[in-house]
Amino acid sequence: MKIAVDFDGTCVDHRYPEVGPDAPHVVNTLLKLLEAGHTLTLYTMRSAGPLQDAIDWFKNRGIHLTGIQFDPTQGSWSASNKCYAEKYVDDAAFGAPLIKPEGFEQECIDWLRVREDLLGRSETSEVVQKSLPGKGRKAEKKIVIPKSETADTRTCDFKNVDKETLLSSSEQHIRDIAQGMGFFCDMLIQASMRHDHDKITGINQFHEDFVTGFKQTKWWDNHRKVNRHHIEKGDGVPDDVNLIDVIEHIVDCVMAGMARSGSVREVTADPKILSRAFKNTVDLLMQNVEVKR
Ligand SMILES: [Mg+2]
Repeated sequence: MKIAVDFDGTCVDHRYPEVGPDAPHVVNTLLKLLEAGHTLTLYTMRSAGPLQDAIDWFKNRGIHLTGIQFDPTQGSWSASNKCYAEKYVDDAAFGAPLIKPEGFEQECIDWLRVREDLLGRSETSEVVQKSLPGKGRKAEKKIVIPKSETADTRTCDFKNVDKETLLSSSEQHIRDIAQGMGFFCDMLIQASMRHDHDKITGINQFHEDFVTGFKQTKWWDNHRKVNRHHIEKGDGVPDDVNLIDVIEHIVDCVMAGMARSGSVREVTADPKILSRAFKNTVDLLMQNVEVKR
């Protein structure tokens, strides 16, 4: 398939005429599309030097472009100035899937969604899974906090800490907490964006199970594995289950119950799983914090 790809806001954060940082998963996705036999044409408002910067971006990442601004074969059958493609990936396109990664100035294309749509659900589920909160999730940038001898006021050497230092370290602690809480807010947003995504991308398989009253469970059996929130089912519990998964499970049960009947069946979770989730959440935050002296 011929795919036309925009540049600013699509492959990179929109910082025209500068070249912004790469959109998450863009490089792997474009390489996978090429591997799968698709071709890519760069279709951008960039021209002259800024266009060359964009062309170099692809070149430096080993991503082959079949065309620049035009499909090379379109002149043989049309005099139109529009670039011919069977699919267009462009952040300005109506309905384009967008995300706002941490540190980005503007929204950019959600390449996981593009990948899922163009390469299929099974190929993508592994990538999606890795992007979910948990073991595979590493913040692109760690939370950096300054070292503070008085961060824990109960254990610090109180005899040698004056009020001014105490005030300053308290202010610092509150800023650190905001970063830590922001980390989990980010994970919650990611979890909400991925929730039950396979109900949409796998609607045919979902419907096939659905019309049997779930006597057939082909889709459902996979659904528990590619999502993280079915913690009430043994094979739905990720190894690295955490409290974000627990919250997602609660929200799932409450929202579905309330929408369906205005009431909610008893929401339960195995205490052993909750305990594991608690510990994993502590570990997860620790792994994403760096202390600078
Ligand atoms: Mg754009």
